[in-house]
Amino acid sequence: MAATSRGTTPVPPDARPRLTVLSGPSGVGKSTVVAHMRKVHPEVWLSVSATTRKPRPGEKHGVHYFFVTDEEMDKLIANGELLEWAEFAGNRYGTPRRAVLDRLESGEPVLLEIDLQGARLVRESMPEAQLVFLAPPSWDELVRRLTGRGTEAPEVIERRLAAAKVELAAEAEFDTTLVNTSVEDVARELLALVKVL
Ligand code: ADP
Ligand code: 5GP
Repeated sequence: MAATSRGTTPVPPDARPRLTVLSGPSGVGKSTVVAHMRKVHPEVWLSVSATTRKPRPGEKHGVHYFFVTDEEMDKLIANGELLEWAEFAGNRYGTPRRAVLDRLESGEPVLLEIDLQGARLVRESMPEAQLVFLAPPSWDELVRRLTGRGTEAPEVIERRLAAAKVELAAEAEFDTTLVNTSVEDVARELLALVKVL
């Protein structure tokens, strides 16, 4: 048969590069687990979000977040440059759309570390995404981790714990739950979920 078609060969559904969303309450260990996984597997691509939150000590612009002003965030939203965005505990956070789509189009798996509201928005706009929930071993341990991190003022911790109750109640909406008892074990399990190719 003459080769008349142009463009890419259709990718079988089970080999499609996958978008993975990791969510879970603040302080459960999302950043720690992702950082551990990427130390071992730097090829796993993580989307860098924009946020109006101020950087914590050690956080770098363009690495941990794009730290933007309220006006800059307004523009990103108005120009449709965010795949999703949400307000969380007094700050806005959003996923830059272009970088994620470019990565998926080039056949690479993509990992987003975003809050529950963001996870729900991604599920609506990209139903093929897999949603992974990171759960704490217990409520007391979550409080210990969030407080022990020492990066938030007491009133911010209170807001984040209030959000955590809502997030924990939504666990059943996710495809998979990983319990963060051991960073190494969870990082390995997450890697297996992200790298489906
Ligand atoms: P998140 O990104 O979900 O807000 P972090 O990654 O900042 O949470 O982790 C919050 C705190 O919990 C940090 O001090 C981190 O070192 C600690 N932590 C993370 N995972 C574990 C774990 N499996 N066991 C004990 N402490 C942990
Ligand atoms: P933190 O301030 O602790 O870095 O993040 C607070 C919350 O915002 C976490 O639940 C984190 O996953 C979430 N978050 C980070 N980036 C984004 C994003 O781009 N979109 C949404 N919806 N949430 C995000």
